[in-house]
Amino acid sequence: MKFSAIIGQHKLKSQLINLSAEGRVSHAIMFCEDQGYGALPLAIAFAQYNSCPNRDGQDSCGTCPTCNKFQKLIHPDLHFAMPVSNTKKITSDKKPVSDHFIDVWRTSVIENPNLTEQDWYEEIGVENKLGLIGVNEATLILRKLSLRSFEGGDKYMIVWLPERMNHEAANKLLKLIEEPPAGTYIFLVSKSPEKILPTIISRCQIIRVTPLEIEELGNNLSQEFSITPADGIFWAKIAGGSISKAREIINESIEVSSSQELFLRLLEGCVTKDMVNVISVWEDLAISGRERQKQFCFYALEFIRRVYIMSMGIEEISNTPDSQRDVVSMWAKKIKPSFYSRGYDAINGALADIDRNVNSKYIFSDLSNRFFLSL
Ligand SMILES: [Zn+2]
Repeated sequence: MKFSAIIGQHKLKSQLINLSAEGRVSHAIMFCEDQGYGALPLAIAFAQYNSCPNRDGQDSCGTCPTCNKFQKLIHPDLHFAMPVSNTKKITSDKKPVSDHFIDVWRTSVIENPNLTEQDWYEEIGVENKLGLIGVNEATLILRKLSLRSFEGGDKYMIVWLPERMNHEAANKLLKLIEEPPAGTYIFLVSKSPEKILPTIISRCQIIRVTPLEIEELGNNLSQEFSITPADGIFWAKIAGGSISKAREIINESIEVSSSQELFLRLLEGCVTKDMVNVISVWEDLAISGRERQKQFCFYALEFIRRVYIMSMGIEEISNTPDSQRDVVSMWAKKIKPSFYSRGYDAINGALADIDRNVNSKYIFSDLSNRFFLSL
């Protein structure tokens, strides 16, 4: 990964390049960030920069054999350790280590170097529990770093989320971090350094990765999501300069507008007795995933609540965003008072059925029928 492939962080990139030029690269560095500022790609790019024989004062060359291997994350002297857990895929080994997941890791990081911890657990199929960097992993790290360099250059160990090390693993690595073997660099990339043993932190040079430049992040978001540059900057600010946070809230907002579109089509179809339209809505819902279906139901509950409050003439407590005021007030005039409690019950029933894994077609055809009859 070249520095130029990483969004923003120009000041930090220059600092790292200067450290390298002055021969002051510490053997144990902790990159700290709030998730989504670019700490992991920066650590990888820094290792590549230091290893590239053709680097200049700005970046690694990106084309030499060393850079090629770094870019595919397959350089034999670039090692990774990250939190893992037992998953359905890894059942034979009771104590999983990073190497079991290295192929998924490479693909995931190349695709999204700013992946979140949650993204990672989803990639490896871990649900509802945290991964761990355990003592087996620590033993493996020590073994890997005790070997001679494969290609004659320096060796790099990037430990992603060292806060997931348990005490035993952390204690085992203390000496290594204090005095790494010659030509060995350990880069720790943490989003919660306060959870790491102080004895580890005190042995590292700390590099704080700060939020991304708003304008630059905004431009990136505008390209990624095909939104206007002004909207990109709006989301970049809301996300506090974190690309992963920005992606999360933009996706949420896209989901909200798609729930709104479906729900308004359903209401319109029921009121105008347009059965074809009603059926197309429940068919769309029936084939979307459970989370998406739940979001639709939560959106519908909130919309009905707002319309009800608006119909009572107490708009100020409906907490309706300006962009939705007209549509909410229009439906407040159209909907019969008897609908509110029936509509509410029907949606809560659908939510309960989704949790009980009832067939989606049944849930949403039933919900639509109830709406059709009571609107
Ligand atoms: Zn190179």
